[in-house]
Amino acid sequence: MAVDNVLTWLESNQDAGINRLCDWLRIPSISTDPKYAPEVRRAAQWCADHLKASGVDAQVRDAVTKDGKPGHPIVFAHVPGDLNYRGPHLLFYGHYDVQPVDPVNLWESDPFQPVVRDARQGEQGGRRVVARGAVDDKGQVMMFLEAMRAWKEVTGKPAGGVKMTIMIEGEEESGSVSLEPFVNATASELRKCDVCLISDTGMLGRGKPAITYGVRGLAYTEVVLHAANQDLHSGLWGGRCPNPITELARVLAQLHDKKRKVTIPGFYDDVVPLSNKERENWKRLKFNAAAALKQIGLQPVADIGETGYTALEREWGRPTAEINGIVGGYTGPGAKTVIPSHASAKVSFRLVADQNPTKVTKAFFKWCKERTPPGCKWEFIDHHGGHGVTTPIDSPAMRAAQRAIKRATGKQAALIKSGGSIPVAGMLKARLGIDTIFMGFGLDDDRVHSPNEKFEIDCYRMGARAHAVLIDELRSL
Ligand SMILES: [Zn+2]
Repeated sequence: MAVDNVLTWLESNQDAGINRLCDWLRIPSISTDPKYAPEVRRAAQWCADHLKASGVDAQVRDAVTKDGKPGHPIVFAHVPGDLNYRGPHLLFYGHYDVQPVDPVNLWESDPFQPVVRDARQGEQGGRRVVARGAVDDKGQVMMFLEAMRAWKEVTGKPAGGVKMTIMIEGEEESGSVSLEPFVNATASELRKCDVCLISDTGMLGRGKPAITYGVRGLAYTEVVLHAANQDLHSGLWGGRCPNPITELARVLAQLHDKKRKVTIPGFYDDVVPLSNKERENWKRLKFNAAAALKQIGLQPVADIGETGYTALEREWGRPTAEINGIVGGYTGPGAKTVIPSHASAKVSFRLVADQNPTKVTKAFFKWCKERTPPGCKWEFIDHHGGHGVTTPIDSPAMRAAQRAIKRATGKQAALIKSGGSIPVAGMLKARLGIDTIFMGFGLDDDRVHSPNEKFEIDCYRMGARAHAVLIDELRSL
């Protein structure tokens, strides 16, 4: 069968594939820093060239941000597929940009000079690639790219005859500011897609492949509480007028009730409750909350959150309100007896289906207003947000992905969710009605966004095989 030859090709070309990945990793495609714009474009071109070598007519399309400024380009391609192809039209999404590298002195080697090495003493796992972007997301996109290459080499057909659209962006690490305008502009092309595949998530653990069928949404806000029109002497004014830090803290302390439920009216209105079946399934994953806490230096007693839900349920299936930063007054060395004119906080909400980020943000601002401390004034800032998604686990494509993982790795894929947010999935669902399958092969300790980011070769191998077999599964639908 063709797929056997494809897997053999991947096996015998694995080192070459890793070398190609290293070439890509050498391009410092840091999207958030304008200084790197030419490198970001070079990484896009590299990706398009790789696809071209797999028979795919890939373009590097210019993108424009919401404010009309030039954005980083998007690698875009259509694979027409065989005339008699009956499976779903797949949309592959990934990103080729990376996070900045600081603090650079904590890296064991140059972040853009990838090193392929064995595990050292005290390190878990095996051989790995260490570099910025090794797993997030160049390494994971590479699994797909090499699977594409293998199918072309073996069958002579791009994607082995599967109908596909490919969209690999260069701004995921800096807010995907051009993606929405791009999706709107290409909506007529994208609407033909049936299901999206993203390889930017993790496994349940080392050697335990997983499919993520849902991520949370996000609403990110900033609130500033203004009091006097100037900073004040705390001896002369203390006790006579509002201190915005104290007042802000008093308001924010009301965000949760005794059961650690969010107190904003209507917050839970659109929350889809966890089904018993889902709770049963998650229980079977035997997640060890105490062990996870231990890794971050906490005792089992720290397993706190919304009453009535386990740690996993709280992460995957329930919304949260978090204060991410709070600033005000004097924070330098020594003492300064001041009552500041204002204080501010970053407050964000992780959302689950079917919560709407805009609605939640509005409700939070209203809730703050109703608690305005005497004499104070609010300033509200709405940062970015995105919808959460839950993908049906019984669709043909989802079943195909499960079978692909089983055939490629010999292991049943765990069906998991993630507490994190991948806004593109929410956007594809909201704009185009497209569900997303997250088939990622990262590990918790890959140090994503941190110094010494790595991707283990075993994970890469599993991922490349799974992507190759998925193409076979789609061909036979
Ligand atoms: Zn990332």
